[in-house]
Amino acid sequence: MNPNPLPLDDLVPEYIRHFAAYIPSKPDDELKKLYGCDPLYRLNNNENPLGPPPAARAALKDFAPYKAAIYPSGDAWHLRRALAQKFDLEPDQFLVGNGANEVIAFVIKAFCQEGDNIITADKTFAVYEWIAEFSGFNARLVPLKDFSFDAQAMLEAIDERSKIIFICNPNNPTGTYWHKEQLTNFMERVNGRQIVVIDEAYCEFVEQDDFPDGMKLIRRYPNLVVFRTFSKMYALAGLRIGYLAGSMDVVDIIRRTCVVYSVNTLAQSAALKALNDDQHILRTREHVKAEKARLLPHLKSLGLEYQSGEGCFVMIKLPLSDTLAYRKLMGRGVMIRSMTGFRYPNWIRVSIGATAAMSAFAEALTELINSHKGIT
Ligand SMILES: *Cc1c(COP(=O)(O)O)cnc(C)c1O
Repeated sequence: MNPNPLPLDDLVPEYIRHFAAYIPSKPDDELKKLYGCDPLYRLNNNENPLGPPPAARAALKDFAPYKAAIYPSGDAWHLRRALAQKFDLEPDQFLVGNGANEVIAFVIKAFCQEGDNIITADKTFAVYEWIAEFSGFNARLVPLKDFSFDAQAMLEAIDERSKIIFICNPNNPTGTYWHKEQLTNFMERVNGRQIVVIDEAYCEFVEQDDFPDGMKLIRRYPNLVVFRTFSKMYALAGLRIGYLAGSMDVVDIIRRTCVVYSVNTLAQSAALKALNDDQHILRTREHVKAEKARLLPHLKSLGLEYQSGEGCFVMIKLPLSDTLAYRKLMGRGVMIRSMTGFRYPNWIRVSIGATAAMSAFAEALTELINSHKGIT
């Protein structure tokens, strides 16, 4: 046995010592035991209840097990060619990662060094902030204004050590978006001095005419980097695959920080098949629209404030603590996202799931609100 205690205080950087690990939810079988519920509806991760597009399902079913022994394409060769064709860019303008989560880390590693900072909102997808902080970089969090990214305040937050600005468009969790002119005005004012990341994880859900397509702006703004994912619309979250696109010069830099072979063979072939299924997008949009049309009037009838915009999720303000609501709803077999972690105490976010799941949620929520009224 080693007689010396581990000198963790000396080994561990201060910014790691102060960083709390993210604790993911337990697997379904454990949760069902813990909360005594069955079935369990997961409405916490914005997953697509329709599942993967048919051609992607077929690719998964036809996967030959012997291929598991072979390393995948290290740079998603065929997928990048398909992406280039779809978006009218060059294959080398794309980098594919183990989920969009991984490409966030690629960009931060490529551009930040000691003393640098990144800029994003206080109430948005938290992974930009987390990766910056546990890598030792300051994340400057600019408050949302009317549930939306505040362009003016973000520009004012820029200093000489700011390297990357992260905009989530549309924003998770508020569903707001910058229209085309807002985004191009912002790009003009940044004027190429920083990298601007537009995270378009939910862009395929948006039907508004004035919604900007980041892919079409890359030629005009070489400092623009666009994130997309196969996890949400394309329903491949379990396979972990997402990507970024940017100008050749910027992508040449980011490529140096990529982890080779991080994207598995199965994910690459399913994504390749999913990419051009527009029917799947239309079907999913119809489902989301129909379920929102059922949910929102119900929330109104319960007297609840909500925030619903683009994307496959709705935020709801509760008259009780969101963490208490989480436990109560779990008892009824419905998992939602409590939003204290998003800096929205007393709010929850519910994903638009299958019809049966949404009915179970509506029923459980009604009961929760009524019993809360009963005790106050
Ligand atoms: C889900 C999500 C991602 C990441 O998805 P991956 O599963 O890592 O591809 C990125 N950004 C936003 C805003 C998301 O909601």
